[in-house]
Amino acid sequence: MKLQRLYSLTRQAIDDYHLIDDGDRIAVGISGGKDSLTLLYALHGLRRFYPKKFELCAVTVDLGFEGFDPEPVKTLCERFLVPYTVIPTDIGKILFQARKETNPCALCAKLRKGALNKAALDLGCNKVAYAHHQDDVIETALLSLFYEGRFYSFAPCTYLDRTKLQVIRPMIYVSEADVVGFRNRYELPVCQNPCPADGYTKREYVKKITKFLLQENPHIKENLFHAVVSSTLPGWQKSDDISLAEKISLSDVLSSDTESDQKSQEEPYDGEC
Ligand code: SF4
Repeated sequence: MKLQRLYSLTRQAIDDYHLIDDGDRIAVGISGGKDSLTLLYALHGLRRFYPKKFELCAVTVDLGFEGFDPEPVKTLCERFLVPYTVIPTDIGKILFQARKETNPCALCAKLRKGALNKAALDLGCNKVAYAHHQDDVIETALLSLFYEGRFYSFAPCTYLDRTKLQVIRPMIYVSEADVVGFRNRYELPVCQNPCPADGYTKREYVKKITKFLLQENPHIKENLFHAVVSSTLPGWQKSDDISLAEKISLSDVLSSDTESDQKSQEEPYDGEC
């Protein structure tokens, strides 16, 4: 994928779901993987010609795994003139040493997002951008179907009532294959993820199933994505001018679900790397 296509797809999502406003200050969550670096490229580039003016800062929540080196991200941010903050945490130790979690991703996502949101507030941001792409949307919908017995996926924009932050996902129209092509074409400085659970998650399992199904029906992914986009799921309704109050708010989502659903509703399988 060329830069132009990346700009076009992200801009389309931003316009369709009204993700960016004039004067926004956006914290970009950077894990150091290909998805988050692609998002940084996209928002940095859009900043130069998008009609609404916004500021960026990049934030990495360091999980504390040995061998994680954010230096290449720092160099990229310096090149883009984007202020970069690394938040040191003991999340890795909490998951694998203190709690010995066998299914660590949900808690990891919760802790990481807590640290990222706090950093965003400390940095004076009103929005946080996540690098979820089209395949993440599809896989999350399948994970919810398989393991929760319901049709659900995260929304392009979520308003967090407690912190008043908005979470935006500008890459929902970009496929993972396009991200891989972009990483290779522009030689993104991807950091290795030293997490022992990386590659052994339920998301990986669903990825394999989707790959298998694609051999028989090459339209599987576009059909699944269409099912989400055209659904009545909260936050997926396109609008020329959705006001903030009309955007999906976490409390709206929670109030419509049973107590036992609330945890997974809040973080519906969108935490795995
Ligand atoms: S695979 Fe990713 S989400 Fe899961 S525990 Fe490791 S770092 Fe966290």
